[in-house]
Amino acid sequence: MDLSLIIPVYNEEENIPHLLDTLHQTIEPLHLPYEIIFVDDGSKDQSLKVLREQSKERFQNVKIIELSRNFGQTTALAAGIDHAKGDIIILLDADMQNDPADIHLLLSKLDEGYDVVSGWRKDRKDKYFSRILPSVIANKLISAVTGVILHDYGCTLKAYRREYLKTFHLYGEMHRFIPVYAEASGARVAEVVVHHHPRKYGKSKYGIDRTIKVILDLFTVKFLMSYSAKPMRLFGGVGLVLMVLSFAVMLFLAIRRIFWSISILDSPFFQASITVFILGFQSLLMGLIAELLMRTYYESQNKPTYSVRSISEESRKT
Ligand code: UDP
Ligand code: MG
Repeated sequence: MDLSLIIPVYNEEENIPHLLDTLHQTIEPLHLPYEIIFVDDGSKDQSLKVLREQSKERFQNVKIIELSRNFGQTTALAAGIDHAKGDIIILLDADMQNDPADIHLLLSKLDEGYDVVSGWRKDRKDKYFSRILPSVIANKLISAVTGVILHDYGCTLKAYRREYLKTFHLYGEMHRFIPVYAEASGARVAEVVVHHHPRKYGKSKYGIDRTIKVILDLFTVKFLMSYSAKPMRLFGGVGLVLMVLSFAVMLFLAIRRIFWSISILDSPFFQASITVFILGFQSLLMGLIAELLMRTYYESQNKPTYSVRSISEESRKT
């Protein structure tokens, strides 16, 4: 299998016939072995029925995964990824806001030697204040925090080489952070401008609250990227700073006591520095627990802490 397309579907009955038409026109001329995986994320309308009836005779290879309830887009994508067999995996939305015809653009960029190609909805057709503006800010923030500079993390339409998608699990709103994880394990990431259309049928399932969730997820991603193999550096670092701070205050109080006879016990700084010391010590201990967790995580699954691009073996002929 060369190519897997994964499409999450939640209440998109009117969009599906158009989606299937465009997909058919796009994918058949490629002459590649492909599969299309639709993940019905607990739709309450006729989406599943329409999918089953209309996709049957059209495509080489279609898989329809019906989730038992609505889990959200990221989880639906994760279910699709778990079932994908392609060497290249492309994710896209079912609502025809992404243009399936752009798959060509992504594939030719991958051919240039990239491992992840991210779609950029440069001319995005959504509400400005509730969607576009928050997303511009979120993209800047994610780029600054993670160091992976992309204009449009939120665009579902992206292509991945299999090995960079299959090594981790997706939680929360995390599908947008896949390029970050991928680059952290050595992937070459590129971006191409893709088309974007206003939603013709059905409703968007998301509003501004999504941006808040994304920003919270960003904390987790940053932590995992920078410290998952060495959490003590973060917790221990914070702990040490707090403990040094409390020592400094104590020293200041002691000097005041010795030279100016100002009472230590009466000073609010005394209470504060004890509290800060305890916090610092706790943080240090938390670091140790995090180190234990991290070892359980990697060692219980025999997960390497590195990723290899290739290994070549050379031996002398005798
Ligand atoms: N979707 C899903 N489960 C959900 C919400 C959305 O599978 O709980 C799908 C939806 O059918 C669409 C894609 O995810 O194919 C993007 O959703 P939507 O268009 O509502 O998001 P937006 O484009 O407004 O960000
Ligand atoms: Mg949409």
